[in-house]
Amino acid sequence: MRIAIIGGGAAAVGLVDALAVGEAGSAAGEVTVFEPSPHLWRGRPYGPDLDSVLVNVPPVIMSIRYLDAGHYASWLGPERAATHLDELLGQPLVPRALYGSYLADTAEAALAALRGRGWRTRVAAARVVAAARSGGGAGLRVRTEDGHEHPADQVVLCVGGGTPQDHYGLGGAAGFVADPYPLAYTLGQVPAEADVAVIGSGLSAVDVVVSLTARGHAGRIALVSRSGMLPHVWQRPLGHRPVHVTVERVEALCREHGGVTLDDLTGLLRAELGTAGEDFAHFAAEVLAAGSEEPVRRLRRQLAAVADPRIGRRVLQETAHTVGPYAWRLLPEPDRERLRGHYRLATGLASPMVPVNAAALLRLFEAGQLTMVAGVRKIEAAEGGFRVRGDGGDLNADVVVNAVNPPPQAVPRAAEPLVTSLLTDGLAVLHPSGGLVPADPRLHVVGDLAGGGSFITSGIPGVAAAAARSARGLLATLTG
Ligand SMILES: Cc1cc2nc3c(=O)[nH]c(=O)nc-3n(C[C@H](O)[C@H](O)[C@H](O)COP(=O)(O)OP(=O)(O)OC[C@H]3O[C@@H](n4cnc5c(N)ncnc54)[C@H](O)[C@@H]3O)c2cc1C
Repeated sequence: MRIAIIGGGAAAVGLVDALAVGEAGSAAGEVTVFEPSPHLWRGRPYGPDLDSVLVNVPPVIMSIRYLDAGHYASWLGPERAATHLDELLGQPLVPRALYGSYLADTAEAALAALRGRGWRTRVAAARVVAAARSGGGAGLRVRTEDGHEHPADQVVLCVGGGTPQDHYGLGGAAGFVADPYPLAYTLGQVPAEADVAVIGSGLSAVDVVVSLTARGHAGRIALVSRSGMLPHVWQRPLGHRPVHVTVERVEALCREHGGVTLDDLTGLLRAELGTAGEDFAHFAAEVLAAGSEEPVRRLRRQLAAVADPRIGRRVLQETAHTVGPYAWRLLPEPDRERLRGHYRLATGLASPMVPVNAAALLRLFEAGQLTMVAGVRKIEAAEGGFRVRGDGGDLNADVVVNAVNPPPQAVPRAAEPLVTSLLTDGLAVLHPSGGLVPADPRLHVVGDLAGGGSFITSGIPGVAAAAARSARGLLATLTG
């Protein structure tokens, strides 16, 4: 069986690792990974960059091996963990490029293990532009940009998420940074005295501000966005295991009621908090206040609550990634729409910022170097710079850095021709809410492009789980 894996980022690493550790008996196949980037296995987030660009979560949820929470921590080892210890979080937080080395080591070890069992493995440094049926539908073929055709029996798309949108039509304007990564390159073009407007207030915007400061930026920085809402701040992990908000409980509710509603999920969270002796109404009010509370005040309060022993926010944060993707597919559309209406809040809760970055932001706010501008309506290039027009007045900037997050299920630009070919050939269809759904059992989609997925961008645990599921399916086909 010839498996073509298109894209060589974290999802592909999870997939080859799961193939290598999975049960295939003596059966052997062939794996070809197609990846045009020079930074194989690292994908968009984990390539070489500034040391100030950190992973956003503690090691226990950065394992690329599904159901082996200690896999990444043991790769990291005690020495590196100590070097990168975040004192506030009590956990190591490494530069994202170092995490990329973990992904690369894991993938190379997996390919070596497969070869040791008689598999053939190959990496093709090329972008895939088409995949279609061949031989009257008996097989599949993958075409790369250089015009080569590669026969395949199974095709797995691991092409990642979308690229940031240019909401204000600033593309091509001098001083506009359309895509901030790698920051080592883009921020190198920003003069130290420049007044910088960063579009967005999510994790990428936080990366930009922290890295500007780490490079000694002296000019003013403004975070400009519509919501003006910063992500929440991580709390120290307590090792609490949810007993109510679990996939098993959601499954049971689904069996009993023939479906699951948002009220059912709220009921599970209420029970979880009740078991821990915490007041649900108080918790819910605190979470919803994020929309109206002054952002710097909230940042200060959250930073002071890093060690708060209450489990509420931790449970919501963790289960948004573990239970959320499963529950999402069971919810009625009106409930999904209600959740989409809270996109910014939900994203900020599910993917908080690390305390070391929160502390850096707070220092900058308090020193007056950083400001937050909400209610932005328009940004235009003007007089060798930019004018930001918002509900609270106008602001001038020399440089604008686009740090908005692409919506989940967006098609990455590099995969647009490929997706068009799959649709044309009938191998896949578009999901009504975005993303791609295979229409042929030989096609698989792992990662944010998978149609019908949650409205929250997946992190490593979600990608690892989906990769392991696909690997199980592939191995069953190989051995069956
Ligand atoms: C800036 C950033 C920081 C993040 N930080 C974290 C974090 O700290 N913790 C966390 O859990 N999650 C984080 N995430 C979430 C992230 O989505 C996942 O961690 C993970 O990188 C997703 O892996 P992927 O393989 O699906 O996509 P990617 O890592 O983006 O990899 C996709 C790969 O596919 C290749 N590709 C695309 N089109 C084609 C084509 N046509 N042919 C061949 N190859 C193609 C691309 O070159 C790329 O290498 C972050 C995301 C971003 C964008």
